[in-house]
Amino acid sequence: MTRVVSTSPQRPADVVVDLPAATPAEVVLAAARAYKAQRDWAAAAPGIRAAALHGIAQSLADNAADVAALIVREVGKPAGEAAGEVGRAVALLRYYAQQAFDPIGETYAVGGGLGYTARKPRGLAGLITPWNFPLAIPVWKSAPALAFGNAVVIKPAPDATACALRLAELAAPHLPDGLLTVLPGGAETGSALVSSVDAVSFTGSSVVGRTVAVAAAERGIPAQCEMGGLSATIVLPDANLDQAATDIAYAAMAFAGQKCTATKRIIVVGDSRPLAEALAAKVGGLGFGDPAEPGVVVGPLITAQARDRVLEAAAQARSGGGEVIAFGVVPSADGWFAAPAVIAGLDASAALNRDEVFGPICTLTEVSDVDTALELSNATDYGLVTSLYTADLDAALAAAQRCETGMVKVNAPTAGVDFHLPFGGEKNSGYGGKEQGKAAAAFYTTPRTIQIGAAK
Ligand code: NAD
Repeated sequence: MTRVVSTSPQRPADVVVDLPAATPAEVVLAAARAYKAQRDWAAAAPGIRAAALHGIAQSLADNAADVAALIVREVGKPAGEAAGEVGRAVALLRYYAQQAFDPIGETYAVGGGLGYTARKPRGLAGLITPWNFPLAIPVWKSAPALAFGNAVVIKPAPDATACALRLAELAAPHLPDGLLTVLPGGAETGSALVSSVDAVSFTGSSVVGRTVAVAAAERGIPAQCEMGGLSATIVLPDANLDQAATDIAYAAMAFAGQKCTATKRIIVVGDSRPLAEALAAKVGGLGFGDPAEPGVVVGPLITAQARDRVLEAAAQARSGGGEVIAFGVVPSADGWFAAPAVIAGLDASAALNRDEVFGPICTLTEVSDVDTALELSNATDYGLVTSLYTADLDAALAAAQRCETGMVKVNAPTAGVDFHLPFGGEKNSGYGGKEQGKAAAAFYTTPRTIQIGAAK
């Protein structure tokens, strides 16, 4: 029997959870229970659904410190960010509780009668989530799904199983039995889930996302896949360098660079030396070490393999002519630590400029003009976020139109998203429509068109 074992990345001997993976038969059973609960849930008044989501939000808020500590322990997220993630999850639940009251359609004039649309829930949503936002991602998918009348089955990443199970435990008293289930497991459980639901929302790597999208298409169900990134930050000569360096250091290195929106490529227009110097100071000044300690910003990588991948990428970049221009020093402790590094002098075809390495490592490239900067930032299969630092609004607006990414941020870091804005990538970073904000309703519901003629 396959087991799910989740250990603490800063203390690998600390086993956070060890339990059997849900079998395909158990997935089918959970789906049957979910369908049973969903019928009444979809028919319930919006106020009932809103009250349930507010109840979950309150339980989470009442247990915020414990849940944040669990996030730190299970995925090595620095304590400040873990507390922020719990706060965000609470806010998301309250935000979507209110969306239960939103209008559900539009009215149209038709000759002598009435035409209107009415959104209805999809039914059962399968949610497949990554480990890096172990609470926020399950919440930002399940809150809108539930608010609009669906049931959900969540298949969390094995490395984030305990956090997802804690969410289910806190949600249970507020929801009908079977409406929200967390099923631990890996690829086999995830693939069984895709075969058992009416819609699938996935977040994770581009390779797996593509498999999920194909499996969903074969079944004729909608899939929304939020995937990897290789986001660029472009710094123009008139940018506030201190602001840019502060933001980039954080966006590239915080939580050891393990965010889909982390800055992976820095592109500097003009002389890059002043920014490189500022970055060396900012990156070197970040807090490294045990993520539970106050002030620590860069903790460990999630697994030994993830740590090794960063070390190999850094070695390969150095042997390919790259120069480390900013770095951090990590503790020689037990956990899966790798030193942060900004590497300059690599060409566009270097592995670090092509493939996502999910860790505290990024490149810096100097170019002579904005056109070249945009060409370079678009020269990737990914398309999640582009960030642009400049004091010139015209330049920002013109460049924003040319970025091939789902999100563009001006004078703000690539990492960090506002949950009330639509979120998602283009190219290999996103498929099937955006999530969060008001965009979620389009995925978790389907509109029915109704036409009423005049009786004769
Ligand atoms: P992953 O792709 O390895 O796993 C994601 C989820 O898919 C896990 O729950 C996993 O168990 C499941 N899975 C694996 N194989 C499957 C299969 N064949 N069928 C169904 N499910 C399957 O990703 P990860 O390592 O957990 O997360 C890191 C990745 O997630 C990075 O690439 C990162 O950029 C990306 N990410 C993207 C976003 C975004 O919103 N764009 C947000 C966070 C993370």
